[in-house]
Parts: sequence; C-alpha cells; structure tokens
Amino acid sequence: MVGGLAGDDLELEFAFLLPVPSSERSSSAQVVAAPLASSPLPRPTSACAAPMEALRTRQMQPTLEEALAAHTSYPVERGTDSSQGIPQLVSNISACQVIAEAIRTTLGPRGMDKLLVDSRGKATISNDGATILKLLDVVHPAAKTLVDIAKSQDAEVGDGTTSVTLLAAEFLKQVKPYVEEGLHPQIIIRAFRTATQLAVNKIKEIAVTVKKEDKVEQRKLLEKCAVTALSSKLISQQKAFFAKMVVDAVVMLDDMLQLKMIGIKKVQGGALEESQLVAGVAFKKTFSYAGFEMQPKKYHNPKIALLNVELELKAEKDNAEVRVHTVKDYQAIVDAEWDILYDKLEKIHHSGAKVVLSKLPIGDVATQYFADRDMFCAGRVPEEDLKRTMMFSEAVRVIKVKGEVGYPVQRAVGTVPESSMGIGLETRRQEVCWSGVSLHYWMILPSCAPQACGGSIQTSVNALTPDVLGRCQVFEETQIGGERYNFFTGCPKAKTCTIILRGGAEQFMEETERSLHDAIMIVRRAIKNDSVVAGGGAIEMELSKYLRDYSRTIPGKQQLLIGAYAKALEIIPRQLCDNAGFDATNILNKLRARHAQGGVWYGVDINNEDIADNFEAFVWEPAMVRINALTAASEAACLIVSVDETIKNPRSTVDAPPAVGRGRGRGRLH
Ligand code: ADP
Ligand code: MG
Repeated sequence: MVGGLAGDDLELEFAFLLPVPSSERSSSAQVVAAPLASSPLPRPTSACAAPMEALRTRQMQPTLEEALAAHTSYPVERGTDSSQGIPQLVSNISACQVIAEAIRTTLGPRGMDKLLVDSRGKATISNDGATILKLLDVVHPAAKTLVDIAKSQDAEVGDGTTSVTLLAAEFLKQVKPYVEEGLHPQIIIRAFRTATQLAVNKIKEIAVTVKKEDKVEQRKLLEKCAVTALSSKLISQQKAFFAKMVVDAVVMLDDMLQLKMIGIKKVQGGALEESQLVAGVAFKKTFSYAGFEMQPKKYHNPKIALLNVELELKAEKDNAEVRVHTVKDYQAIVDAEWDILYDKLEKIHHSGAKVVLSKLPIGDVATQYFADRDMFCAGRVPEEDLKRTMMFSEAVRVIKVKGEVGYPVQRAVGTVPESSMGIGLETRRQEVCWSGVSLHYWMILPSCAPQACGGSIQTSVNALTPDVLGRCQVFEETQIGGERYNFFTGCPKAKTCTIILRGGAEQFMEETERSLHDAIMIVRRAIKNDSVVAGGGAIEMELSKYLRDYSRTIPGKQQLLIGAYAKALEIIPRQLCDNAGFDATNILNKLRARHAQGGVWYGVDINNEDIADNFEAFVWEPAMVRINALTAASEAACLIVSVDETIKNPRSTVDAPPAVGRGRGRGRLH
C-alpha cells in the first residue's frame, strides 16, 4: 500500500481544483529587514516638530522617514490637529507623495536603481518598485496603502509596480487642491471611478490582439513583451538574450503555467550570456559522504527513487535510554540498527532505481552501499527541487471518508490520522464550520500526481513499485562554474525547466532573478491574455487625451476632476523623460499634439530624445498590466481620500519606534 492511501476506509478523489495561492516570489525571501531601521539617524519620536528641525540643522539628505514625518506635518498649521478632517486628508496625501518620490527615479529604461541596506548590512540593488517598497519600512498608515498596491500589482501581474505607485500618488497630487478647498471626497471618488471605467474600456477598445493560432506571431508578441519588461532593468543590455530564454521557459510549461515550475538557480562566476535554460530539473549537488565519488555520474534512462527517508545509522543513544548488562546485548542493538538500514537499502536496490534522491540525509554507509552497486544517491535535496523533479501539481485533492463520497466538500469531513496520510502527500488540515460545528478535514495536495519524471515521493521503502519510480532520459552530474550540478533531462512528462544564471556580484544576480521574474510574469500574462498596447507613455497619453475630451462634454465639478485624472496620467511619459534627462515639457507638448492628430501609439522615444510610434518600435506591454495598474492606482487613491480620521490606539503612540524589523522575516532560513 502506498502510504496507506489505498486503504480500505479511504476514498480518494479529485473533488475540485483549487488554485493554491502562489507563493511569494522567491526573491522576496531574501528581503529580511527594514533598511531604514538601520539608519544611523535617530528615529523621530514625535510626529511633528522634531524632523523639520533636524532637517534644518543637519543640512543633509533627509531619510525617507524624516521626509515622511516632515511632509505629513508641513501642510498643517502648527498647533492644528491633523488627525481629522481636511488636514488629515492633506497630510495623508502628502505622505503618499513622499513614497512616490522615493521610487520616482527608477521608472523606465533610463531609470536609476536603488541600493538598499538592511539592519543586518545585507545590500539589495533593485529597480523594481515592489521590491524597493517592501524593503522600506513604511510606518505611515496611509502611505502603506501604496506599498500594498505595489505588492498586489507584483503578485497579480508581476510588472508595472513603479507605474502603479506613481499613478496613485499623482492622482492624489492632482486632487489635492480640490481637497484643500473643501470638495467632498465622495465627489472625487465618483469622478475617479467614472474615469477609470472609461479608461479601462478605452484600453480594451484600442488594444491590439495577436492571433493565438499563429504560433510564429504569438512568439514574436511574447518576446516583444518580455523585451519591454526587461528594458528597464539592470540586464537591459542582454534583454534580447533573456527575452528568448524566458519565452522558451514559459512555453515549456503546461496550461496552468505555474511559476514555480520554472526553477531559477544562480551560479556565481562567468558571464551573463553563459546563463542557460535546462529543459528539465537541475539542482546543486548536495552534501555527500565518502564513497560518493565512486558512484557513476551519468545514466541513460535511469529509474529514480524519490524519498523522504533517512538512510543513516541512527544514534539511538541520543533518543532513548537503553540499559544493557552484557556486551552481547549491546551488540544485538547495534546489529539491529544495521539490519534495519540494510533492509531499507536492499529494498531500494531491488526496486531497480538507479538514482536515489532523498529529502533527508543519506549517510556514509548508504553512500558506500549505493556506490558498490553502481547507483547514485543524493541526500538533503531541497524540497522544492524534489517536488519539481516530480512536478508537483497545484490541484488540490480532498480525501473523503468512505460513505461520504459525493458530499459537497465542506461535508467531506472526518479526521484522517496522520499515519495513514500516505507517502509524499502534502496535507493541509482545514477547519470547516458546518451547521455550527467545527470540524476538520484534510486537504491533500497531490504531490503524488503525475510529475516531471513521473514518480512520487515515498516516506517508506516498502512500496517501491515501478509506478512510483520516476524516469528520465538522461541523468548527469556536471560542473557549472565552481559548482557541481545534477541534471535531469528528457523527462517524458516534463513540464518544468530550470534557468541557470551566471554572473558576477551576488546582488547583481539577485536583481537579475527579480528581473527575469517580471519578464516571466509578463509572458505568462501575454499567453493568457493576448492583447497588447504600446508602452513608453503611449497608452497613458492616449487615455489622457480621451478623458480630457470626455471631460469637456460634462458640466460641473466632475469636469474638473476627470480633467485632473487625465492630467495625472501624463506622469508616466513625463517621468520617463525626466529619468532619461530629456526636456519633459517639450516632449509632452509634442506628444499631446501628435495624439490630437490621431497618433494613437505615439510615446517617448527613449533613444533619440523624441517621440515615436512605440507600437512600431515594438515597445509592447500586455493590456492587462495597464488595466490592472490603472484600477489599482485609482482604488488606492479613492481609499486614501476616503479616510478623514486616524484614531490611534494610545499604546501605538507610546511605543512609537517599532522594534527593528518587527520580527518580519527574522530568523528566516534561506
Ligand atoms: P514598472 O515597475 O512600472 O514596470 P519599469 O521601470 O519597468 O517600471 O518601467 C516601465 C515603463 O517603461 C513602462 O511605462 C514602459 O512602457 C516603459 N518602457 C519600457 N521599455 C521602453 C522603451 N524601450 N522605450 C520607452 N519606454 C519604455
Ligand atoms: Mg517593468
């Protein structure tokens, strides 16, 4: 029985497919603590006066935090309570400006990067709005909203994080005069909702769809979108090279296009162009014992055993107290341990597996045993690699207790003892409240579903039947730079691939990984949603013109507000120009004139300080990115203008300076 799954009292069924929330992008794990907390300057204790004084006397660049505190206080006259009504609104809007100020310069192909240093001295270089904002420990409650929309844009579409933050801040900036004059926030919100709706419809109307059936055309589209996403990154010099690699990687996946099926490995050293895409799984050679070097390093069509079993002599004296009186008794205990281990090893050997991978350690005795039998083994294989080797599917299987088949899932109750949960099954215990009674059931994430190499992870060696063993055409251990890598290629069911990045500094490679992530997300988006718009401010200028024209047809305050919205959209081309050192006013004038004449796709030409038809210049972006950015930015702006009071728990002001990093990501193992 495979881990008790086929047990009599259990029925397995794919009850429904639930997308498991995609895990955070891998690079975020490296983000550990807030950089500002480590700032050498003391944190301001009171929200108002001190920071301004500090800025005046110190004559140095303010930290973001000081700027935030200063900005939030200056529009309000001294002595006024800023925690209510219009002063509160104005102060929140100013706080958001500070956030936008912090990432403004990173937008676009000529954008600058930020070097962030956290409290442990870990440096991160990034151009990605979401990454930067995540690393800034923003405490201001309203400003945090902007951080959240950047994060949501990152999770939803992966790119456009800087744009979304800038847009939201600019929307607010444009309506600030109206707020100060006492215009009711609800009127602003209504105007914003209308404008967003109109803008989204307009994007859908003018977006260009490329036929999916035409594979050549589709590939061209995907590459163009990837190139645009990469052109604002540190690796923009190699954008064509990486765009091709990213598209190759994404088209290798199955229809679900799961992000985690693309493994990204970084090997320091070598040139960026030496990065390669492996159609299969590759991971770094794990820790090994003596005897390892005697094992063969290449197989054709090997069977692969994927285990979650420790193949080591257990030092039982650590775990239990055993009293023995004679040497013979002691010998018996030692023999028993060896017997247990040999029994396991023999079973693995007899299963016909040539490559043995385990999540748990494989000790020296086992290593030697496998070496003697021409087998290869690797212990302590990282879980995600092991899973990718068997291509973990994200579908969720629900286990049901017999007799309840066919019940809706909430009623698929019954606690299945952990011991019978089976081998290689990822389980999630869920509590459901049904008819007022709280019950538990187990969701099984089927790591036992079809995999890259076809096997499944076993927690015991007693059922190593051929169907649980994986297979691949070639297994090989090769040298990449200074590291040894295990490659599994030619997998029959391969729907997974690995990108091996080469390059210099660690921070550089981390940023490369983040940039590739953006490009991969964009390509996935473009596959699912094959309509594109031109970037470089073209779409924003067109929307701006459209909304300005529309606003002229309506009377009253709405006209002014929609006009303000239209003006705010110009921030994208304006910032692209500013960052490239162009004369923004001049270029924007040209753009406005061109769009008025019907040049829909005219945007900033970043190479010639001019305007150009960016559709023909192939600066393409999936329409989804822009739609999402606009809706998220306008929602955030609405949210911020709808807050007219901050009520603080007195304790939160007393212990104002939060502990460094507030435990976020602390002690996290990488
Ligand atoms: P985000 O985090 O918003 O994606 P980026 O720094 O990636 O920010 O910049 C994206 C902006 O740069 C988009 O508005 C995009 O249209 C623009 N852009 C990208 N490539 C080009 C290019 N070759 N010419 C002009 N604009 C470009
Ligand atoms: Mg981008």
